[in-house]
Amino acid sequence: MSQIVYLNGDLVAREHAKISVLDRGFLFADGVYEVIPVYNSVPFRLQEHLDRLQSSLSQLGIANPHSNIEWKNIIRTVIERNGGGNISLYMHITRGVSSIRDHLIDDESACTVVLMCNPLNVSQQPIKCSTATLMSDIRWQHCDIKSVALLGNILLRNEAEQRGHDEAILHRDETITEGSSTNVFMVKHREIYTPRQNNFILGGITRDVIIELAEHTGLKVHQQDISIKNLLNADEVWISSSTREISPVTRIDDKIIANGEIGPVAKVLHKEFQSFKKQLCR
Ligand code: PMP
Repeated sequence: MSQIVYLNGDLVAREHAKISVLDRGFLFADGVYEVIPVYNSVPFRLQEHLDRLQSSLSQLGIANPHSNIEWKNIIRTVIERNGGGNISLYMHITRGVSSIRDHLIDDESACTVVLMCNPLNVSQQPIKCSTATLMSDIRWQHCDIKSVALLGNILLRNEAEQRGHDEAILHRDETITEGSSTNVFMVKHREIYTPRQNNFILGGITRDVIIELAEHTGLKVHQQDISIKNLLNADEVWISSSTREISPVTRIDDKIIANGEIGPVAKVLHKEFQSFKKQLCR
């Protein structure tokens, strides 16, 4: 089936979805995005994604072009028109088209809104492990905004790939922030640690689900600074995101984490995560 893209109110074949060269998203990466996993045609944690979208837009001073009800209708239509099932739904909102290329914001411009679908690999059984490399966090100071300005993340991810790893785990000075497109967790003595939510990390929707499930299971979760030293000496390390879910990190650079196998806490939470998804998206 040909991919149908939503562009400013129209549903068009992907090859016909075109934007202006004066779009501020194209010129300045002046926009935000969301990636929502859709299981069995049901968007996962939709309200939370819409809340994060609102927060990103507000921080950039872009007026939200749609109410939650309108977004939900648009999203439902895009899923239906793309055949439903398991989808990674991409939403992209820019500040819109200016009359000339100018850093100054033209208050008159209307947002550009794009929604499109990518295949979502849901074969998360068995749990998929990763390896990671430590890299200095070269990004700006507003990583809590889900901005389409991803050059730092892209360079870091590609450097990790060149080093033969699945992800870059980032640090500012000696403190871990997050992965290039994931959040970071560690386990020590069966207690879970993850960096606190601040302007240096994106508040991951998966991160929140994991914290909820862990606490529900009776596991203690600490949201606090993690040093490089503590991460390397953890009993377990995982990364998380909407597309990777919980992925145990078995090696960071040359350091094997614990015994290099999937830890018991990751196994429990992976199982909980799968049943939670099933329950919500039945
Ligand atoms: N941090 C960054 C920098 C990311 O790009 C992502 C993925 N969008 C995440 C964390 C994880 O967020 P989520 O669980 O909402 O996918």
